[in-house]
Amino acid sequence: LLQLSAPLFLLGMMYREVKQALTNMERLFGLLDERQDVQDAPNAQVLETRRPNVRFDNVRFGYDPRREILHGVDFEIPAGGTVAVVGHSGSGKSTLARLLYRFYDVGEGAIRIDGVDLRQLTQASLRGSIGIVPQDTVLFNDSIYYNIRYGRPEASREEVEAAARAAHIHDFIVSLPDGYETPVGERGLKLSGGEKQRVAIARAILKNPSILIFDEATSALDSKSERAIQAELERIQVGRTTLVIAHRLSTVMNADQILVMDAGRIVERGSHGELLARQGLYTQMWTLQQSEKERPVEKGSEVSQ
Ligand code: ATP
Repeated sequence: LLQLSAPLFLLGMMYREVKQALTNMERLFGLLDERQDVQDAPNAQVLETRRPNVRFDNVRFGYDPRREILHGVDFEIPAGGTVAVVGHSGSGKSTLARLLYRFYDVGEGAIRIDGVDLRQLTQASLRGSIGIVPQDTVLFNDSIYYNIRYGRPEASREEVEAAARAAHIHDFIVSLPDGYETPVGERGLKLSGGEKQRVAIARAILKNPSILIFDEATSALDSKSERAIQAELERIQVGRTTLVIAHRLSTVMNADQILVMDAGRIVERGSHGELLARQGLYTQMWTLQQSEKERPVEKGSEVSQ
């Protein structure tokens, strides 16, 4: 049995690695806007707005038309406001973010920015206005400087360093023997989960987007890093229309509105206090997370690249 299980174990590991690499590629292509799933309308407009209002109007969507994932989702993020989405795994939270970035077009209904259907906007102006802090940041095999500047490739050295300072990663970078020239990524320095998120935040600060999507990491950071990252995000959210996909309920307490998703539908909405008073799904999730907190945090989840 042992003889058999070793190769099987290896095969499993390889499968996971290949799968992860493919996911990364997909994300990378997403970032580089090389996906051609959606096309600009012939008379597409350029999105020019500093504090946009975002609306999802009765949005229905399925990756496969035979399996609908979102069954009519309605909500609004007021100009400069924050809406947080919570819900069990698979309920459709990240799908909302992918649709807002227009990786895919909605099946029915519409997403509107300041009243204009996303499909009437140029993709370049839409994606240029949206900053994403993803769950798992893709690092290129290049210097940390290059990796931060990726947020806005024409940024100056001063701007890159200012963004790194604002994301609280500058001091860490200059403490490295090669400073900003330190290679990162697969073949370079492995950054912790928290450091990678800071790189993503620095990129977003450089990009200076009017819409921010924060897809919170599922892997646990230690509570000190978590609080620090949260504080940095709160700072960059100011004045930007923000959608937070939250996996930890502690992140959402300050949102203007919290949406609770269940199987592709919004089943509850309101402020943290209002939702707790309802004694529904949100209360259940909150109680569960509070009891999980009492258990020790799993070690090692922070170092994966
Ligand atoms: P999590 O908290 O685990 O990130 P989520 O609430 O963000 O979950 P989504 O990623 O939006 O969930 O997924 C919603 C549903 O859509 C899931 O059932 C999933 O299987 C399906 N799905 C997600 N991405 C794809 C895809 N690229 N192709 C087909 N189905 C997908």
